[in-house]
Amino acid sequence: MPFNAPPGTDPERHTERLPRRIYRLRMLGMGLGALPIGMVLLENQAGAGHWVFLLFTTVVWPQLALWLALRHPVPFRGEIRNLLVDSILAGMWVPLMAFNLLPSVLLVTLATVDKISTGIDRLWYWSLPLMAAGAVAAGMASGFEVQAVTSMPVMVACLPMLLIHTIAVSQASYRLVRKVKRQNRQLDELSRRDTLTALDSRRYWQEQAALLLDQCADTGEPATLLMIDIDHFKAINDRHGHAAGDDVLRATAEVIRQSIRGHDAAGRLGGDEFAVLLRGTDVDAAGIVAQRIREGVQALQVDSAPGLRPTVSLGLAKTTGAAGLRAWLEAADRALYQAKSRGRNQLAIDDGLQAIVDTP
Ligand code: GH3
Ligand code: MG
Repeated sequence: MPFNAPPGTDPERHTERLPRRIYRLRMLGMGLGALPIGMVLLENQAGAGHWVFLLFTTVVWPQLALWLALRHPVPFRGEIRNLLVDSILAGMWVPLMAFNLLPSVLLVTLATVDKISTGIDRLWYWSLPLMAAGAVAAGMASGFEVQAVTSMPVMVACLPMLLIHTIAVSQASYRLVRKVKRQNRQLDELSRRDTLTALDSRRYWQEQAALLLDQCADTGEPATLLMIDIDHFKAINDRHGHAAGDDVLRATAEVIRQSIRGHDAAGRLGGDEFAVLLRGTDVDAAGIVAQRIREGVQALQVDSAPGLRPTVSLGLAKTTGAAGLRAWLEAADRALYQAKSRGRNQLAIDDGLQAIVDTP
């Protein structure tokens, strides 16, 4: 049957984990279930066959199930088969208890809840017909005797199963919810960071840029966008190797980080291109930051590329207001292009119409 593992579970990797975890739960569930079943058998003065079957269900079966799952080529799949056998056994106990109402409903409900709480796709749905088949088979063998009324002693014997099982399942769900929350937080954190340089990722940086642009439109606060691109980076990779290229990217990111303030946002847009949002900063002040970055990169010494003096070209643009983020990026890009075409290792400033080049 094509069952899928619950999220976060790899059946091939965690081979023995599921059978061993379910073994403990099965021992607990079967042990608690033995109380009301035994009480009903006592009241109904059941024969030896019923008692032997109770012994099999509650003592022998949990051991056999673990052994069968561990011997299975894929224990995860073996355990799924065992979980379905649990359902057949639960269904069989309904006619064997002469349809005693409370323990019968409890067994069927808890056997279904167990399947749902594994998180395994469609497992509970497959367990229903198997439970019905177990009930029909055991009913045919035992004669479909009906004594549905539940006595007070049987009700009391049902309570430990009701209480402990419900709390155990809720605890498992609670742990799962906490784990998913933690993983979501980690994923969120990962999606915000560029893994190589630890600067903001392109997507996160763009989100911040759009927010800042909105703020500036509301408050009239100045802001500037600085686009930075390493000069002849392809040649650095070709000459010194890709690993040295990565070192240059990391070192450049560090220079950028050291040159800006905490509330500015620096991101790697991709390849050898970086962008910085400078909040509350006009073009003149941003030009000073840009030159600091340019000089910082020029002074870099990269161990894996001896003799290399990397340089960057920079393009600066002030907020474009209502024209939007795209226009702002294009303006900074235009300035960067000017800095490249005028010989690299320099800053160019977009004045809205054309770029003014500010050579070192
Ligand atoms: P220009 O001076 O005009 O900017 O030339 P350039 O060679 O820097 O420009 P180009 O955009 O052609 O080169 C970017 C290179 O960056 C190409 C690509 O192989 C390399 N690259 C992209 N991502 C990475 C990375 O993560 N690590 C390394 N080492 N190289 C990368
Ligand atoms: Mg480049």
